[in-house]
Amino acid sequence: KMRGALTKTRQALGTDIRDLFKADGRLVDDEFLKDLFERLIKTDMGVSPAEEIRDQIAKKHRARVVQLEEVLESITEQITEMLAQDSTDLAVAGEGPTVILVVGVNGSGKTTSIGKLASYLHRSGKKVVLGAGDTFRAAAVEQLTVWAGRIGCDIVTGQHEADPASVAFQTVDKAIEIGADIAIIDTAGRLQTQSNLMQQLDKIRRVIGKKIEDAPHEVLLVLDATAGQNAISQASGFSDVAQCSGIVLAKLDGSAKGGVILPIQKQFGLPVKFVGLGEGIEDLAKFDPEPFAKALFQ
Ligand code: GDP
Repeated sequence: KMRGALTKTRQALGTDIRDLFKADGRLVDDEFLKDLFERLIKTDMGVSPAEEIRDQIAKKHRARVVQLEEVLESITEQITEMLAQDSTDLAVAGEGPTVILVVGVNGSGKTTSIGKLASYLHRSGKKVVLGAGDTFRAAAVEQLTVWAGRIGCDIVTGQHEADPASVAFQTVDKAIEIGADIAIIDTAGRLQTQSNLMQQLDKIRRVIGKKIEDAPHEVLLVLDATAGQNAISQASGFSDVAQCSGIVLAKLDGSAKGGVILPIQKQFGLPVKFVGLGEGIEDLAKFDPEPFAKALFQ
């Protein structure tokens, strides 16, 4: 699935390293290293990772004829290492339901990612409750309600323009009442100012914390992979105020620049926990660096 999702990155940009090789291999000289660097950079991974990979290949293989497999293996290894993160597991509450807040700019894929995450957890045997905290967007509430119906899980919705914190409070209440394992709470995707956003998130934290002391246990930031490098600046406002604990990189399948995950991880200093690989209910995967690194170039 990961390979399929990164087809665009490989095709649109010709990052397939295979093209650089003849059947009997290729001499590692300046020209090859330049070609390789170009393909690396096209994925949007950023200049310094691409330089690092190129230099490593040069160090290992310069003036030798190498086979495609050796080079791919080396690249995969390096990218896997660059993307290595402590853990992509979701935090789990010591006691009572685990509370996950989801933040992100409108259009990033937030609602869809919540639906897919809920389905993923539901399929792994967890009892999930959704909270439609983006109360200013009727479409988001409707969309989330449809997801809840498809999954067969509970959802808490408020009145239009109700205080998102009250929806969050009720969601946690519901989760405790029915003995749910996990509450996933949507938040507003558009607020006029950062201080506005901060106030809202602070309030949500406060009211949830009254119910469960160490909640929220996760604050996931949804980023749109198709926005390329723009995703970084677009979302930095959210991560500044939201005290995020992890990233969901949505629409990786729609992106021609899948390598953007490297600069994203670096800039935010947060683990990428999940990636969106399509619009379907099962199109969310726990992020795993190795298959990702492989799929980027072959
Ligand atoms: P929100 O405004 O942030 O809640 O965004 P939505 O969840 O409504 O998503 C915006 C659009 O992106 C919708 O058309 C989704 O179907 C689509 N979308 C979300 N995640 C993915 C994904 O991983 N892959 C693809 N191809 N489309 C996605």
